[in-house]
Amino acid sequence: MPFERPEIIRPPSEWRSYYLPLTSGCSNNTCTFCNYYGSKLRMRELSGVKEEVDALALYHQHGIRLPGISSIVYAIARDWDGRRIFLQDGDALVYPFPRLKEVLEYLNEKFPSLERVGSYATPRDLLRRSVDELKTLRELKLGIIYMGVESGDDEVLRKIQKGTDSHQIVKAGRKIKEAGILSSVTVILGLAGIEGSEKHALATADALSDIDPDYAGALTLTFVPGTPLYQECQEGKFHPISPFNSLEELKMIVENVNFTSCFFSSMHASNYFSIRGTLPHDKEIMLKQLERILERRDPSLLRPEFLRGL
Ligand code: SF4
Repeated sequence: MPFERPEIIRPPSEWRSYYLPLTSGCSNNTCTFCNYYGSKLRMRELSGVKEEVDALALYHQHGIRLPGISSIVYAIARDWDGRRIFLQDGDALVYPFPRLKEVLEYLNEKFPSLERVGSYATPRDLLRRSVDELKTLRELKLGIIYMGVESGDDEVLRKIQKGTDSHQIVKAGRKIKEAGILSSVTVILGLAGIEGSEKHALATADALSDIDPDYAGALTLTFVPGTPLYQECQEGKFHPISPFNSLEELKMIVENVNFTSCFFSSMHASNYFSIRGTLPHDKEIMLKQLERILERRDPSLLRPEFLRGL
């Protein structure tokens, strides 16, 4: 079956990148809240990847379009500056190591101005790789890996069918750092519902501290139709937290997390209120912002529901 190009889902910080699919779907498609739930993982043939890279190089360097190449390639390439590439899809790091290495070598050969390649990875992908393999990829400009932590609470991780426990997630996150690659991780406010809220926030702060990433982002749980968690919520089996509860969780995380130096934000469109700063340096300012909003409890200070995004 021919490889079908996946929809572009990427971290906000990759807005300047060219999006190059190596896979579609996610190898760990069981997470009950995720829009990749139930997706089928497909690996793209190396020849297809190279064909796209050749077309991209020709267009980027000479403005020449080749027949038979998807118009999306040229649409993305139009404003691309040749510096950053993001490998799609849900966990492109699952792509077999020899082939991944070959893709990176090819990108380096074709784009001398390439500065950084980024990819999502599941904790399992990272546990499967040795630090030496990751270092090899870093030398080939794999400069940042995005990994979903979701929660540090094993009970929550089990319920959402993450497929890994907090210990494994921390180990995977630390491996990124050990290889000298920038680590960017995300956690999800509200993932434990009302009942598990505090435990989730505190355990998540602990897991984040143990990983000690370069970047950490908080997202707020959004119910995606078609996922098991959406269904549970519809049936009244999962009790979602309120927008202000999500800020209480955020405050607990900021209060309890212990980083060396991490850019921490809740800028993602799913959140009701945005804070950002470098922790621990900006801890007091960030906590004050949250305290102020939690004291006033004024809904008009929150992002309206219709403006929230995934
Ligand atoms: S591992 Fe990540 S991308 Fe894959 S299903 Fe789980 S949350 Fe979604």
